[in-house]
Amino acid sequence: MPRQAILESPPPRADRVHCAHIVDDIDHCPQVPMTQTSMSPEEFRRMAHEVVDWIADYRTNCASRPVQTTVQPGELLAQLPAAPPSTPEGFAAVLRDVDQLLLPALSHWQHPNFFGYFPSNGDLASVLGDFLSTGLGVLGLAWQSAPALTELEERSVDWLRQMLGLSPAWSGVIQDTASTSTLVGLICARERTSQHGATRGGLQSGEAPLVVYTSADAHSSVDKAALLAGFGRDFVRKVPVDDNRALDATALRAAIHHDLAAGRRPCAIVATTGTTTTTAMDPIAACAELAREHGLWLHVDGAMAGSAMILPECRHLWNGIEGADSIVVNPHKWLGVAFDCSTYFVRDQDHLVRVMSTNPSYLRTAVDDRVKNYRDWGIPLGRRFRALKLWSLIRTHGTERLQARLRRDLENARWLTEQIIATAPWRVLAPVPLQTLCVRHEPAGVTGEALDRHTLEWLRRVHATGRAWLTPAQLDGRWMVRISIGALDTEREHIAQLWQDLQAATC
Ligand code: PLP
Repeated sequence: MPRQAILESPPPRADRVHCAHIVDDIDHCPQVPMTQTSMSPEEFRRMAHEVVDWIADYRTNCASRPVQTTVQPGELLAQLPAAPPSTPEGFAAVLRDVDQLLLPALSHWQHPNFFGYFPSNGDLASVLGDFLSTGLGVLGLAWQSAPALTELEERSVDWLRQMLGLSPAWSGVIQDTASTSTLVGLICARERTSQHGATRGGLQSGEAPLVVYTSADAHSSVDKAALLAGFGRDFVRKVPVDDNRALDATALRAAIHHDLAAGRRPCAIVATTGTTTTTAMDPIAACAELAREHGLWLHVDGAMAGSAMILPECRHLWNGIEGADSIVVNPHKWLGVAFDCSTYFVRDQDHLVRVMSTNPSYLRTAVDDRVKNYRDWGIPLGRRFRALKLWSLIRTHGTERLQARLRRDLENARWLTEQIIATAPWRVLAPVPLQTLCVRHEPAGVTGEALDRHTLEWLRRVHATGRAWLTPAQLDGRWMVRISIGALDTEREHIAQLWQDLQAATC
């Protein structure tokens, strides 16, 4: 069947195969000869075209699928051979598996009705960058091992810095995730307060304990980073939040004073620009002032909402950011770089390098004093050419087109907020500074656990339509539903349909 005919006809089963033509074609591919030891460039060329077509078809037809899979735990596993093949099966077999087995077992993050978690947009321009990166197969161990990898990273991260409105005082590096960036931030904080204690007795040195402060609504990765950096749960203070669910700066000041009075050493504040549950904005300027006053490290977790700072009108939300020591922004969320690409910015790159560097003889080169060796800017030695994804996205779209998409999402969130606020007994439970709404339908007299049951039940009904995927979360111990707007293809019509579906589910 010609490709277009397939694209125009509805998929045979809602959650199945629109790429069957490819699979049919490749069924007739010659088997890989046993004498061949790797995929030849010619075979790669042929199969890569199939893969690119497959991806393009997937993205074209994504909206016609149910957004969430109905697969049961273990269902896919039972269909996968338990033992590896001993003879070549050819790549056609892989693509057939993707099409027939894996696709039905996936939820579709790039679907326009994906409102769960956060937008993790893999713009196809950055997919191509990722493709190139993997195809090149180079590794950054030192500048010399892949000079372009290092220098493109330096340039593309600096482009992002400018787009975010950060001053030239910041230098950036690409990490895999915000979790890693925050871990690096807290290790740097620990080493600054302990005056590089790791090079002496480390955590065993027996001095007064170091303390980390973060909001009660901070992401779990902050806890994890603090634990992995050795602070210990007893020394992670969860500072209460205010009515806007932002870290309460007065409570933070009190907590620092309390620890100082008890002989402990306040070490770091992790403030969040856009908390996971409600997108609350911690008061960065107040945190920076306290950090300065007491010599604390200030790390800002802008994993999700940092992308919004490419919009000048949003920058007031992290007012005071120049007073931070480190920042993480994930271009692999709302901005559109295919996962994974987390940017970590620091003011004092010398400190970062001193904390992270190792200098084995086999990695030393004659140009080390003239170049950046990004292995000294984080934890892993080997570095992927991730910069190609960021570079591809920014060059392909330019700042203005990226800004336009984010503004579209903000406008959609504003519209939905207005509809919900105007329709009792629906409620929007927290401020909506960006694109995430926390909502609940609260019929009169339904409270406590009954309200929880009601919330989870109407959400189940929405999910059962297959038309939208939202994430439930607890706010002050009660269930509510988060609507995170911002997938690449989400337009007003999708938001309007969602609003209809929400109302229908509560009738
Ligand atoms: N910080 C915030 C505020 C987040 O929302 C998230 C993810 O949801 C993270 C950190 C963790 O991001 P990553 O998966 O890049 O570690």
